[in-house]
Amino acid sequence: MDISRKNNSTTKKRIYLSSPHMSDEGYEIQYIKEAFDTNWIAPLGANVDGFERELADRIGAKYAIALSSGTAAIHMALKAAGVGEGDIVLCQDLTFAATVNPVIYQNAIPVFIDSNYETWNIDPNALEEALKKYPNVKAVIIVHLYGLSADMDPIIDLCSKYNVTLIEDAAESLGTTYKGKYTGTFGDYGAFSFNGNKIITTSGGGMLVSDDEERIAKVRFWATQARDKARHYQHSEIGYNYRMSNIVAGIGRGQLKVLDQRIAKKKYVFEFYKRELGQLEDINFMPINEWNEPNYWLSCITLSGKVKPLDIMEALEKENIESRPVWKPMHMQPVYKGYDFIGSGISEKLFENGVCLPSDTKMTDEDLYRVCGIIKGLWK
Ligand SMILES: *Cc1c(COP(=O)(O)O)cnc(C)c1O
Repeated sequence: MDISRKNNSTTKKRIYLSSPHMSDEGYEIQYIKEAFDTNWIAPLGANVDGFERELADRIGAKYAIALSSGTAAIHMALKAAGVGEGDIVLCQDLTFAATVNPVIYQNAIPVFIDSNYETWNIDPNALEEALKKYPNVKAVIIVHLYGLSADMDPIIDLCSKYNVTLIEDAAESLGTTYKGKYTGTFGDYGAFSFNGNKIITTSGGGMLVSDDEERIAKVRFWATQARDKARHYQHSEIGYNYRMSNIVAGIGRGQLKVLDQRIAKKKYVFEFYKRELGQLEDINFMPINEWNEPNYWLSCITLSGKVKPLDIMEALEKENIESRPVWKPMHMQPVYKGYDFIGSGISEKLFENGVCLPSDTKMTDEDLYRVCGIIKGLWK
């Protein structure tokens, strides 16, 4: 008996945290249709080349390679940076595990760096402490969480002073700028994700950008099974099957056309919450700095009073509305216990007190009032 369907007909409309939102204009399907019409389903093809060019131009990067995921992009960045067995990689502690897992794929050693309250991202002071403690650091991976940029100036200074490769995990921050320049273009490498919950999606996919032509060419080689230039299949290095398909890239080209629309709506959602919930006691919004023009991927708050994150998440879930805790820090993850952590517990505090509110770009004002009404109810 189909109980779930019966229940669904009586429950309220589902509101998502952040779900795929294809263009009203149907751009994505046009690109896909072109691929079908020319039978360029795979491998690679015009949509892949076009998506790489268009994304690079959009953010002001010189070179880009489309890959199967954001995780693959981070993996390839580490490999391109020469990170290998036993190397130390400093990594933002407050993030999704996909930032760090590729460090382990390369048999390298992550050291986790705390965030600060001003940015929620890597704390430059903790970063410097770690660079002093570990003189042979090979690379630093920073993250622009929830579409908020990290404080890039001191981070760039430190990376050049200590001569380490800087990798930006910009999976959540496509379209975010820091002092007028796009995130993902500050470091030696920038990694983007087009997973289903991101600000634009290809159903799944990623992109690695860099100004280093030779390194991107090398990634192209590794990501395409490392086939040597020979008629027969010959390999002198280990390869990966990490390329994006021409169909998937077509979705990406269409989505890129509506990125500005999506950012505008995400910002509208954030400001709606701020207006409606800002007066509540002990509620704080994620930090928007004057040098930061975020993409507002998710609207996040922290709580410091009687109402706890779990109260909000449970009250919303009862009404069929999705919300999430802030990322659980890597140094608290069972799989990463035993690795060093440099900091003072701020990432842990953000995790304990933070909530990501529904930030779906398909939400109507009515939906937003519904969410706000439920949250306000907890303060009565
Ligand atoms: C989504 C995400 C990734 C991974 O991207 P995939 O495309 O899902 O592999 C990496 N880092 C962060 C911070 C993310 O949010």
